[in-house]
Amino acid sequence: MYKYNLLILTIFLLFGCESNAQKTSSTSEFKIQKTKEEWKKVLTDNEYHVLREAGTERAFTGKYNKFYKEGTYHCKACKTLLFTSDHKFDSGSGWPSFDTPIKENIGYDTDNNLGHTRSEIHCNTCGGHLGHVFNDGPKETTGKRYCVNSVSITFKEK
Ligand SMILES: [Zn+2]
Repeated sequence: MYKYNLLILTIFLLFGCESNAQKTSSTSEFKIQKTKEEWKKVLTDNEYHVLREAGTERAFTGKYNKFYKEGTYHCKACKTLLFTSDHKFDSGSGWPSFDTPIKENIGYDTDNNLGHTRSEIHCNTCGGHLGHVFNDGPKETTGKRYCVNSVSITFKEK
């Protein structure tokens, strides 16, 4: 009987340590967390490159560049609502452009990849990279241009 109790105690302690370790490793800002392998299962290579490695699709190649149907744009990785067609405009840049996002669903970061500082934008739910925000948007609205990769988003018709 004593041996049996000791065994139970040992198992309890082992699991106790494991759950503590898990707690400390999952303190992150994003609600949706996946490993590299898990993301690769649900995203194409191109989507993975843009969303998870902050890549950029080639200008004028994205499917939402010249696309003006009425509806909503969601994160390709986690389906969070990010933009609406009411705020989409043709910037001529070669990427889908919006003057206003769904504020609480977008996060910002500073990125120095090209030698100068730009504001990186990402999905606030999963951390997926969307594009950048610039100050050369339409003056009559916000003056902002949210420049987004088509592969980072998916469209839902109204
Ligand atoms: Zn997302």
